[in-house]
Amino acid sequence: VEAELMRAQRLESLSLLAAGLSHDLRNILQPLLIMPELLKARTDDPQLHHLADVIAECGRRGHEMAESMLSFVRGSRTPSERIQIAHLFEAMELLLRSTLPARVSLHLDVDDPALAVDANYTELQQVLLNLALNAIQAMPNGGRLTLRAMADPDAHGQDWLRISVTDEGVGMSAEVLSHLFNPFFTTKANGTGLGLISCKRIIEGAHGSIRVDSTPGVGSRFDLLLPMREEPAEDAPLQQPVAAGSGQ
Ligand code: ADP
Repeated sequence: VEAELMRAQRLESLSLLAAGLSHDLRNILQPLLIMPELLKARTDDPQLHHLADVIAECGRRGHEMAESMLSFVRGSRTPSERIQIAHLFEAMELLLRSTLPARVSLHLDVDDPALAVDANYTELQQVLLNLALNAIQAMPNGGRLTLRAMADPDAHGQDWLRISVTDEGVGMSAEVLSHLFNPFFTTKANGTGLGLISCKRIIEGAHGSIRVDSTPGVGSRFDLLLPMREEPAEDAPLQQPVAAGSGQ
């Protein structure tokens, strides 16, 4: 019981800290939302345009993350929206390629370009980034990092979207697997042990689940399962490119 209490208190102080931080962060990141566009207007260099896009995407992500951290701490639910998986994967590729160490090769694969799901875009991106960064860290000697999305109907006729993040890294022992989603559990010298618990919270908030499959010395696969709704008639035009809306 004492351990539970200590954990609750640590989480409580963490929330307070998060509230303060996210409030300031929102303001600090404001210029990153505007200035990359100003920079792009001043040059035709495609490489500089690409760099400005990466900066803008990071700024947008940070800003929305601060927003959702604030609403999490205040106890309100983050709004969900229709997310085209192909579009989400494009943004992931942009972010990952800009930080990927040379030893790791990245593979993204969307089974069907029409795949879509209702969730909070920034939160889902955050989950995938957490999993991808863990995967990269698990491959000190290199290997393949694969993100794949596919429809996965279950035996009860319910349609699920499955997103898997697979690495060829060190894998996990049964011991590590059993503590994986405990807050503050980490095997890294400078880890926080908060990555996977926050992934789980986000995915369960979207009525989904996370599964893990891992073999020591071979690698790990994290599967996200999210409920796929029927396509709403009104949103039909969203089927095709929507890049103008949320990304840039
Ligand atoms: P952190 O990354 O700060 O340690 P996480 O909650 O993201 O926190 O991860 C907890 C632990 O789970 C990690 O320290 C690591 O031992 C293990 N882990 C997570 N992902 C992987 C992976 N892809 N391969 C091997 N171990 C992993």
